[in-house]
Amino acid sequence: MSACIIVSPVEASAEAELAARLHVVDSDQPQVSVLDLGVTRGDGIFEVLGVINGKPQAVDAHLRRLGVSAAMLDLPKLDLEAIRAAIYQVVELAEKHDEFSVKVIVTRGIEGSGVATAWVLAFKAPDDFAAERAEGVKVVLLDRGYPHDIAARAPWLLAGAKTLSYAVNKAVLREAARRGADDVVFTSSDGYLLEGPSASLILKFGNKIWTPATAQGILPGTTQGAAFEYFADAGFATAQVLLRTEQLWDADAAWLTSSGRMLVPICEVDGRPIPVDHALTEAGNAALLARTN
Ligand code: PLP
Repeated sequence: MSACIIVSPVEASAEAELAARLHVVDSDQPQVSVLDLGVTRGDGIFEVLGVINGKPQAVDAHLRRLGVSAAMLDLPKLDLEAIRAAIYQVVELAEKHDEFSVKVIVTRGIEGSGVATAWVLAFKAPDDFAAERAEGVKVVLLDRGYPHDIAARAPWLLAGAKTLSYAVNKAVLREAARRGADDVVFTSSDGYLLEGPSASLILKFGNKIWTPATAQGILPGTTQGAAFEYFADAGFATAQVLLRTEQLWDADAAWLTSSGRMLVPICEVDGRPIPVDHALTEAGNAALLARTN
């Protein structure tokens, strides 16, 4: 069983006790209705936080992004403090590991009810993150099919919202496996580097550390943000920029970053090796894993 809390996620009257809005449930038992729009249409949003040595990471940044996703989907205004309380409570209840994750899910709720559903769940990912950080991952470049300015051009496509509709993000991993790779870097249809299906992309060119600009309809990565703080403190010049696909070949190091994985070096792109900076990867991951919030 994993620790799980159902939370009523929208702002309640001032006198409503926070504790009364959090319900610890048995994650082995069914808790979500078959009529819930999160289940029937993938109509909802989520966040995954890393928990290191019992401390959930970048909670403010994750809550901020959850609020942005909610607004993009026209979900009701969320009570982020109730969700924050549920995150800390679930971490307390969770089986202790050095590293584990907490998932926050908010759906549009049961069709016609107008009441959002939300739950917060602690889980231990099966992936071997330590091995990925040490050995790196092979990626393939896959076209996402949209131009890089899709977010401004067609905001109804919800590019850049962290929605529950991740079937495509999983399908591309199966395509990567068919091509003998571990992961994917999405490109825009007009030739720009974007992000992974569950990770941000960071490139190093000498003293410059760059990540694709989020205006291209990609997620602002909380781990990329924390990694940029590390890189800036270490004397690198960091920036969000537009990066042409070919620039991945010229980088002197590249990483995928996400809340569970931290900095994972990319060692191969479409079957061609690219350089890995093991020392910088180790130092960056040491800093990320030493965070206390
Ligand atoms: N981009 C996408 C599409 C993601 O799904 C994720 C995380 O799951 C990220 C980037 C990285 O975000 P974070 O570092 O906040 O986990």
